[in-house]
Amino acid sequence: METLNLKPHVAILASPGMGHLIPLLELAKRLISLHGFSVLFFVQTTYSSVAQSQLLFSLPDSPGLNIVELPPADVSDIPSHADADTRIGLVMRRSMPALETSLSNYGSAGPVTALIVDMFGTDAFDIALKFGLPKYLFCTSSAAFLAYLLYLPSLHQQTEGEFCDLGGPIMIPGCAPIQIKDLNDAVKDRKSEGYRWFLHHVCRYKEADGILVNTWEELDWKSLRALREEDAFKQIPTPPVYPIGPLIKEVQTSLRGVECLLWLEKQPPESVLFVSFGSGGSLSSAQVKELAWGLEQSQQRFLWVVRRPNDFTPSASFFSSGGNEDEGNLAEYLPVGFLDRTLGVGLVVPCWAPQVEILAHSSTGGFLTHCGWNSTLESLVHCVPMIAWPLYAEQRMNAPMLVDLRVAVRPILGAGDGVVGRKEIERVARLVMEGAEGNEMKAKTRQLRDSAIRTSTVGGSGYNLLCQVASEWKNGT
Ligand code: UDP
Repeated sequence: METLNLKPHVAILASPGMGHLIPLLELAKRLISLHGFSVLFFVQTTYSSVAQSQLLFSLPDSPGLNIVELPPADVSDIPSHADADTRIGLVMRRSMPALETSLSNYGSAGPVTALIVDMFGTDAFDIALKFGLPKYLFCTSSAAFLAYLLYLPSLHQQTEGEFCDLGGPIMIPGCAPIQIKDLNDAVKDRKSEGYRWFLHHVCRYKEADGILVNTWEELDWKSLRALREEDAFKQIPTPPVYPIGPLIKEVQTSLRGVECLLWLEKQPPESVLFVSFGSGGSLSSAQVKELAWGLEQSQQRFLWVVRRPNDFTPSASFFSSGGNEDEGNLAEYLPVGFLDRTLGVGLVVPCWAPQVEILAHSSTGGFLTHCGWNSTLESLVHCVPMIAWPLYAEQRMNAPMLVDLRVAVRPILGAGDGVVGRKEIERVARLVMEGAEGNEMKAKTRQLRDSAIRTSTVGGSGYNLLCQVASEWKNGT
């Protein structure tokens, strides 16, 4: 049996996916450095990606951070075409016995004071109950998305048939209406396995003793207010919600020598459009070509994290983030001569790039992003206006929020083929990088960045809320 030091501990369980792992690790670091905790950090080794291994390997030594790799679950019976919600749901369910054993080994030896899970980890609430631990949910997305998730069980009961067949938008009390086309995929087919898993988790959110959410008041005020004040949420009943964000990855100076950062060094200030679709996003073959033409014709400098196209699913790389593709194959899916014609103006990086360091670099002036919540926060904190290009999950709900906040522009899809055409890409690239609108968006990101700093520093509301929860855990209240 392993013994723990006498510091209070929290246990954190991450579900597969870099977008879950990264902010939970940041939470762990904060609990260790600011609140005197040690953290037992449980990660899945099933579907673990190259990006995950590299991230865990590169973590600085911290005596307070104990990474516990759960043994791989048997997933041989899960068909390769199963949707992401089902795969994550099954992996998490099957890892529960190992989590329980591991926690009982640690738990009886030391003062574990709380269990924190992300949005797909609610099965672990049963284990928290067994051990008498307070159970907390960490929402890795916005308060707007959290409000939608908490309200989904009510919508499920009130609605017969598919949500897609409802004529108008989905109305969540006190929140901005959600267009049907922007719903996450699992919810678009109520007969699917993915929907059952999704609903299973969201139905359990009300059991949490508290919900930490990676956002802050100035960014998400409308939904946070709705969560606090609307009767519909009081009746659920909604656990206390703690907006403790933004928790984003810190810039690592050790990465300075990476090729794309050296390239950025040579570019003029705010001249480069960074193009990336998160840890798992892929475009269709037609879209990759059109994007390449649009970037070229815009005559803007660009740094593009390119992935092999996938004509079937936009989340193709979700479970294999950061896998090394053969750079020689780029020519197979980019327009003929593209790399030569854009030499010096653009840089193409296959698969994966140090995103936070790129966004923080003074040469970066815009971000064409899939609107994953971590990418969104990283862009805002580093004052980079966005081109909002959502692909899957809740990204289509994040995009309109960013447009409403006037920090992003959303390209218009071509009629019929669902591809954004090169002229439209050229238009939005110029708008963000050159136009007065781009400057206005930049000014708005600065305001939000300033409010992000205020909330996170001593005395700020996010800082105080995390202090409050941390002291409740320590005092067992
Ligand atoms: N990321 C990165 N390099 C890449 C792609 C992604 O460092 O080439 C990081 C990015 O900075 C962010 C996370 O992976 O912290 C992706 O999370 P997000 O919520 O934006 O999107 P997801 O990948 O979950 O769709």
